[in-house]
Amino acid sequence: NPLPSPPRSWAEIDLSALRHNLRTAREVAGCAVMAVVKAGAYGHGLEDVARSLAAEDIEFFGVANVGEARRIADAGVTTRIYLLGATWSQERAEIVGRGWTPCLSSLDEAREFDALARAHGSRLKVHLAVDSGMGRGGFVAEGLPEILMELEKLPNLEIEGIGSHLPSADEDEEFTRSQIARYVGIIDSLGGPERFRWRHLSNSAGLLGYDRECCNLARPGLMLYGISPLPGHEEKLRNVMSLKSRVTLVRTLPAGHGVSYGRAFVTTKPTRVATVGIGYGDGYPRAVSGNGAEAFIRGERFPMLGRVTMDQLMIDVTGSDVAEGDEVEMFGPNIRVDEVAAKAGTICWEILTGITPRVVRVYR
Ligand code: PLP
Repeated sequence: NPLPSPPRSWAEIDLSALRHNLRTAREVAGCAVMAVVKAGAYGHGLEDVARSLAAEDIEFFGVANVGEARRIADAGVTTRIYLLGATWSQERAEIVGRGWTPCLSSLDEAREFDALARAHGSRLKVHLAVDSGMGRGGFVAEGLPEILMELEKLPNLEIEGIGSHLPSADEDEEFTRSQIARYVGIIDSLGGPERFRWRHLSNSAGLLGYDRECCNLARPGLMLYGISPLPGHEEKLRNVMSLKSRVTLVRTLPAGHGVSYGRAFVTTKPTRVATVGIGYGDGYPRAVSGNGAEAFIRGERFPMLGRVTMDQLMIDVTGSDVAEGDEVEMFGPNIRVDEVAAKAGTICWEILTGITPRVVRVYR
């Protein structure tokens, strides 16, 4: 048997930091929590994250689709699963059979769930999704009282909750306040808060930045993974993922030597260049190229040179003892993922969920 080849790049996932962040979210929210673990737990690994958080006091796992729900349930996790996104008709028998909780956006799907639950001999708990400003899904507010009356005629459905979503909690405070007021108005028009066992609206920014007395369930995602979408809360959270690689080669290039595709960088003096075994094929964003991205090696930050390639990138280590085999942090406790996202012109959510399967996840 050949010796196992050490991975070129890996992501260390600190599960105790993850659980710390979950407890912080619960404390700040002051209510029950749905841990949002869609998109492979934001790239941290769905099964491992779900198993780790299931030991905490959480009400639901929030997933995007049935495939993710299956993975959690098949991992032996018994916490309730909530489907944040739309479901296909052909998936609904399984949802009923496994007792997952869908959010409803139409009467037609409600009737189908009701019929399936009747055939299954069960009563399915469902939540109403209401569109209070996101424009992506849910019932629009007009006519909702009449729709609820129709829904209440379906004997095999239990309308257990009412959820909505904030599109700009990290960008537009005024709109978000008016949206929260609209959500409260919708609930009042449907019989008041007592009508719904669960009322939920807040993503991480909503939870950290706003008063949400109307809600008794919060839906944090990003903050569980250690990142605050609003400034001023970083201290409360602990870094969870560290994206790492190793120096594969160190050479000194003479002045006037191009580095990487397009020769976007050309040395002006003899330069010690470390080649690192990670690239955009691992999900490290090519878009940072030329925007001052750095890597952390031997306790120091070093600047990146030229463009990120698919599997490798180059770092200027002139004047240092950096050597082949050295560990490199691309982001983590020393270079925050927000910084990488800003340099790539994108958001942390996209960087985290974009870390590819080639990157081995190592749990601590
Ligand atoms: N709720 C819904 C419906 C979402 O789509 C998301 C994520 O996009 C979240 C909650 C969690 O959001 P965040 O990661 O900003 O906390």
